[in-house]
Amino acid sequence: MPVYAFKCKNCEYKFEKEMTISQKEEAEIISCPECKSDNIFQIFDRVGFVGGSQTSSCSGSCPADKSCCN
Ligand SMILES: [Zn+2]
Repeated sequence: MPVYAFKCKNCEYKFEKEMTISQKEEAEIISCPECKSDNIFQIFDRVGFVGGSQTSSCSGSCPADKSCCN
């Protein structure tokens, strides 16, 4: 079962949830376990890249153009 990582924009708390793809699609609103805010976003560090040799300091929370990753 894939593990998805999320970060709360409200309190910066990072957490992970283990769920199937269909569960994720159904979970329209995931709330922060710390502050109960639903103002969260998914982060992609490590998750989904098992076996990859590339390392990056990019947390996935940078702008869409990844300018912070260079
Ligand atoms: Zn929070």
